[in-house]
Amino acid sequence: MTDKKVKIIGIIQCDFARERCSGFGCMNSFMQRIDAFTKYPKDENIMVVPFNCGGCPGRRISRVASNLIKRAKKKAEIEKDGIVIHLASCIVTDNGHYPTCPHIDYIEKILKRKGLKVKKGSYKSKTATKRREEGLYEPFDWDE
Ligand code: SF4
Repeated sequence: MTDKKVKIIGIIQCDFARERCSGFGCMNSFMQRIDAFTKYPKDENIMVVPFNCGGCPGRRISRVASNLIKRAKKKAEIEKDGIVIHLASCIVTDNGHYPTCPHIDYIEKILKRKGLKVKKGSYKSKTATKRREEGLYEPFDWDE
């Protein structure tokens, strides 16, 4: 699937990180098509659906992903091949909230079994990037 065909981006955020995060960074990165969102054309009408994982080990992801697939089809005639899920930076990177989520493989497996495409990353924090370069945080390969 080319990114031109993407109609919905679901951004899953870590439940614990979300306790102190408004989600602004991820949404802003998407709106500006920066960080992990550079490949999505600015002129495409893409809906963003953010949600949190529900706590370890991604408790509500299966149910919310199913709900998203069903609603997208019923309310907007969008098939699941038009949906991409981004695992937010608070999940996939070692960062200012916490180290990388220990359940990524499990979460990814759930989403892929539902036929959803998964990408890793969202907002790229300057502070975390600096700390990554300094070796304080684990390295991370961005899906760009
Ligand atoms: S550590 Fe992982 S599974 Fe646990 S709350 Fe955060 S994202 Fe969800």
